[in-house]
Amino acid sequence: MKPYKNKINRIRSFALSLIFIGVVIMYFGIFFRKHEIIMLIFMILGLLAIIASTVVYAWIGTLSTRAVQIVCPNCGKATKMLGRVDMCGHCREPLTLDPSLEGKEFDEAYNRPASKKETSEEK
Ligand SMILES: [Zn+2]
Repeated sequence: MKPYKNKINRIRSFALSLIFIGVVIMYFGIFFRKHEIIMLIFMILGLLAIIASTVVYAWIGTLSTRAVQIVCPNCGKATKMLGRVDMCGHCREPLTLDPSLEGKEFDEAYNRPASKKETSEEK
C-alpha cells in the first residue's frame, strides 16, 4: 500500500469522520440527562463537530473547482488532483502536473513553496 492518498478523498474522509465524532459526542450527552449543563456541553460540542464537517465539505467544493481533472495513465479513470503532485483517487498512482518532477520519487514536499524554490535553484 502506498503511503499517500488522493488529497480530495482524504479531506472527504476527514469530513465524514467529523460527522461521526459529532454524533458520538451528542450520544454521550444522553448519559448525562440528569445533569443538564453537562448534557448541553456535549450537545454543543457535537453540534460544533457537525458544523465543522459542513464547513469542510463546503471547502472541498471550492477545492474541487480548482482541482485539475485528468485521466490517470495507470488505471485510465478520471481523477481530480490538487497541487503539483497528488495521487490517483482510484489506484493511488502518483501524478504530477510538473514535467520537471516526472519520474522523480513521489514527495508531498513538492507542494510546499519552499521546495519549489529549491527546484528552480537547481537549474
Ligand atoms: Zn489510477
